[in-house]
Amino acid sequence: MFFPSQGQTCHSYCTFCFRWAQFVGDKALRIAASEARMLHDYLRHHDEVTDLLFTGGDPMVMKTKHLQGYLEPLLAADFDHIQTIRIGTKALSFWPHRFLGADDADDLIRLLERMVKAGKHVALMAHYNHWRELETPAARAAIQRIRATGAVIRAQGPLIAHINDDPAVWARMWQTQVSLGIVPYYFFVERDTGARNYFEVPLARAWQIYREAMQQVSGLARSARGPSMSASPGKVEVQGVAEIAGEKVFVLRFIQGRNPDWVQRPFFARYDEQATWLHHLKPAFGEEKWFWEDEYAALREAKLAIADEGVSLAA
Ligand code: SF4
Repeated sequence: MFFPSQGQTCHSYCTFCFRWAQFVGDKALRIAASEARMLHDYLRHHDEVTDLLFTGGDPMVMKTKHLQGYLEPLLAADFDHIQTIRIGTKALSFWPHRFLGADDADDLIRLLERMVKAGKHVALMAHYNHWRELETPAARAAIQRIRATGAVIRAQGPLIAHINDDPAVWARMWQTQVSLGIVPYYFFVERDTGARNYFEVPLARAWQIYREAMQQVSGLARSARGPSMSASPGKVEVQGVAEIAGEKVFVLRFIQGRNPDWVQRPFFARYDEQATWLHHLKPAFGEEKWFWEDEYAALREAKLAIADEGVSLAA
């Protein structure tokens, strides 16, 4: 995952966003990497890395020439191990002209084409909250233009109260995406940061909305995973609510985990109608800890020790 320094803002700001810190001028909270060279050096020496995710803010606020500085060198033979390049963006909603009539839109389209022709899987990870964002002629023209390069558009977005906490909204959004050639990818739970009090939806309700939306769409639109929490130990999905051995529980699983061995292992939490995030949940069946808890604590400690070492070396 890479945060280019020129892509740390967005075309507009979502009020529910947890990345607010980046936008209010507190440099201590910024998480930018400033050098393309640093990225390339790292990737050159880590041929086990196959996927690169460009994120922000929104990397599409960058001029094409900056984006090109990061991406074009990856087409050289010494980066053949980088097979997938993902770019997270909300520009398809906020500023579709980025791909149409903006000064360097044609250069951007040609860059995407070159990456695809060089054999990279290029995916725009497009943030959508509502089917209305897919309705404007500019949004549709931008989608067509990107798809014509061979790049794939995958859609993801959070469930947010007062905006899209309705199964019909998600069902229509996923169906519209499929009809436009976009792959529904993630149904996220609103994060436990930022302005969550207004926007959060309890996990039990989130699962209900997801389930009812899935029931209304055909198989091609059922590719969105969720409800998924991007929590510190990993991406945790609420698979459902069940009664097991007389106890009502949430069935959970890791879609991604700090330890790959956790992935796809089901685990169980006591049902809690009010819980909105992983840290509100307690293990079911009288267990004191999650199966991953000790290992996660050890991994965190090891990471902090490495960070401390880095600080003292720098000092
Ligand atoms: S576009 Fe993404 S990063 Fe930017 S404000 Fe919205 S949610 Fe946050």
